[in-house]
Amino acid sequence: MRFFNTYSRKLEEFEPLDPAARSIKIYTCGPTVYSRAHIGNFRAYIFEDLLQRHLELRGYKVHRVMNITDVDDKTIRGAREARVPLAKFTRQFKQAFFEDAKTLRIKRADEFPCATDQRYVDRMIAMIGALISKRLAYQADDKSVYFRINKFPNYGKLAHFDLTQLQSTGRVKHDEYDKEHIGDFALWKAWDEEDGDVKWDSPWAPGRPGWHIECSAMATALLGDQIDIHCGGVDNIFPHHEAEIAQSEGVTGEKFVRYWLHCAHLLVDGQKMAKSLGNFYTVPDVLAKSYSGRELRYALLRVHYRVPLNFTWKGMNEARESLGRIDEWLARLSKIARKEKVQRPAPTATQRPIEKPGFEEALDDDLNISAALGFLFETIRETNRAMDENKLDAASASALLDWWQRINTVLDLEAHAEIVVPTEVTQLAKERENARREKNWKRSDELRERISALRWEVRDTKDGSQLTPRSG
Ligand code: AMP
Ligand code: ZN
Repeated sequence: MRFFNTYSRKLEEFEPLDPAARSIKIYTCGPTVYSRAHIGNFRAYIFEDLLQRHLELRGYKVHRVMNITDVDDKTIRGAREARVPLAKFTRQFKQAFFEDAKTLRIKRADEFPCATDQRYVDRMIAMIGALISKRLAYQADDKSVYFRINKFPNYGKLAHFDLTQLQSTGRVKHDEYDKEHIGDFALWKAWDEEDGDVKWDSPWAPGRPGWHIECSAMATALLGDQIDIHCGGVDNIFPHHEAEIAQSEGVTGEKFVRYWLHCAHLLVDGQKMAKSLGNFYTVPDVLAKSYSGRELRYALLRVHYRVPLNFTWKGMNEARESLGRIDEWLARLSKIARKEKVQRPAPTATQRPIEKPGFEEALDDDLNISAALGFLFETIRETNRAMDENKLDAASASALLDWWQRINTVLDLEAHAEIVVPTEVTQLAKERENARREKNWKRSDELRERISALRWEVRDTKDGSQLTPRSG
């Protein structure tokens, strides 16, 4: 198996840290919960899902951690604007993230650490202390603590930048005047008025951690000093992942990550899909156009992770068509497999799944999903032809179904009854949640009645309200 390692910019043969145990440690940068994640973010999570599932198919045991960034500049700003406490503000987006990930059939990571967890804040503080004692960090006049990039010779190796050449442009932000070097990044941000009640005590000043140290602390706390694979979107390479290396290796003295894997962006009209550009869709936006989670999963999965993918509604329709072909093929195979009378086998059709380069071999090659799907559709075409000519026997059909079961542990694309909640019902449920928050029980009951009239039932759980179709 080989992967393209961003660190070396080369395809490298994959060798786990602990080959004997066949277990692999993966860290994936998770969502910043200041708004609902968009489908560009989910392209990254689906690529990571594909990576995990393929490693598992190949017999590895994967231990994956995905962090939740629930304190940073954006979450603090959002909570302030909404006039609610930070934890309350981020809770709704954490919940939405898990909901959307489930809709897209993304396998859950083993752990989802949150940056605000005191356990990890303590660890961030301890790591910053260790960096200061090694002179890799310093406290500036503004009381914040910065990483001293000039003291870390490997700084810039991941991004392939020579950062020591960075010059001030004269348009630096106010706080950058306190730094020794323009490239020095904040490890600990001293409290200021804009932070409201978001602060933790520290040996330097009350304040909060920088985004980069959050990931270094959570990754090493849960996976140890060395990790097999670290993933994210290409926009994470610099400064985020570069900073993670400097901080983690600065503290431990060990190589932090063996393989850095980054996915290309999801684009809209040739531009990165991003909150800041306003050109984004969320998972509910796509569902509201009557596409299913399965169709969106396929649309985001089908292109090689290092190739930029343009999101279009035409692409969604193509996804629907491709899945239709898979569904139809499976239905035909099942019908034949159930037949008792064995017919003459069609050797070419039955031999396809073990021919090379097959589905799994394509994924071994830096997760070449386009080639893997190409192989699947070629197999479908050939077996359909054999079935048209009545040349596929029950045993061959069963073998193909078994093969599908195996590759579907990676794809997870089989149709199962998906419940699509109509937008009107979702809207009413949202209004009802607001009414309950305001303790307006009369309105909440009225809204329940209206939801019920549309043949849906709303139940209140500790994770918020849940909708189920009303039976009878
Ligand atoms: P954020 O919530 O901004 O920290 O991003 C979460 C993840 O989504 C990161 O791994 C980003 O690199 C990734 N990401 C953000 N925008 C896109 C995009 N348009 N296409 C693919 N991945 C993205
Ligand atoms: Zn991160």
